[in-house]
Amino acid sequence: MIRDIELAFIKIHILYHADKERVFGIGLMQELAEHDYFISPGTLYPILNKLENDGLLISEKETVDHKQRKYYTITESGKSFLNDMKNRIHELYKEVVS
Ligand SMILES: [Zn+2]
Repeated sequence: MIRDIELAFIKIHILYHADKERVFGIGLMQELAEHDYFISPGTLYPILNKLENDGLLISEKETVDHKQRKYYTITESGKSFLNDMKNRIHELYKEVVS
């Protein structure tokens, strides 16, 4: 249960950053660690796949330092989902925090 809620927060972070710029696995892990979310590649990559399968993210492969790196960006439906979530977060914040 606690993990479910944490994973939901992590997904919101991922969509938020994918809306600002292209993101990739290791970069996201470092960014999330700054917010005290410690997530392993074995947890993160299935989340990224799921978000892509759900049509919220789209990926492209690129070679960086002779290695394939998968970059993700938000899709149009990802953007509208994120906006909907922002309203809900705002609503939740008003009730629970302030
Ligand atoms: Zn973040």
